[in-house]
Amino acid sequence: MITIKSAREIETMRRSGEITARVLSNLIHAVRPGRTTFELDALAEKQIREFGGIPTFKGYNGFPASICTSINEEVVHGIPSDYVLKEGDLLSIDIGTTFEKYVSDSAVTVAVGQIRPAAQRLLRVTQECLMRGIASMRAGKHLGDIGAAVQAHAESHGYGVVRELVGHGIGTRMHEEPQVPNYGRAGTGIELRTGLVLAVEPMITEGDYAVETLQDGWTVVTADGKLAAHFEHTIAITDSGPKILTLRDSGERPEAYEYAPGVAA
Ligand code: MG
Ligand code: MG
Repeated sequence: MITIKSAREIETMRRSGEITARVLSNLIHAVRPGRTTFELDALAEKQIREFGGIPTFKGYNGFPASICTSINEEVVHGIPSDYVLKEGDLLSIDIGTTFEKYVSDSAVTVAVGQIRPAAQRLLRVTQECLMRGIASMRAGKHLGDIGAAVQAHAESHGYGVVRELVGHGIGTRMHEEPQVPNYGRAGTGIELRTGLVLAVEPMITEGDYAVETLQDGWTVVTADGKLAAHFEHTIAITDSGPKILTLRDSGERPEAYEYAPGVAA
């Protein structure tokens, strides 16, 4: 069932998203060579709780941590560990907060120290894919418009769009209907309505889009071992357009990207 949120519910989700955004911003600043992903997870849990939230991921279907940390060819759902981050790694951090029963979900891929130009390009294009998907989220448009926008941008750069994992509706549960694929055809799928809240999360690969799950039952990696990137926001469709509920104050300037004008910040 697809739920439509009231303005009051969206305001609660914005407050949830604010916690997610602040903690994710702090995590981004804490990323450096020599730090373990365990340390980032501990920081995330401490801060989410200090801001009055609950780490949504912890215990979700048995997931053992408060964030997912996915490195290089890992696409999503990597488990924080004693892995020591090293110069040149790509690190994807995915985080979810529950605040007053409402969930917000956001992810970013960042460079550990200096990365090679090809990896920088993958990050930039994946973030642009997210912003282009968001720009298409207007009442009267269709679900397929989001995936079509993401896919067109990724493929125009020769990248792959992961098919097996998708974005999702979000509210009092992290994963609600509808599923939000990162590929598709414009004008198809359900009509987008004011009050719909979606987590849009392109997972883009440097090579082929096929993925596999490791023995730990969680970590999803590219089958060809090439790099992947993942960016995610929780977005409400409002009468005045898409409103990003997990927008970070710093380290993110959506106006810097070439998406259609008029995206509510
Ligand atoms: Mg997420
Ligand atoms: Mg998500």
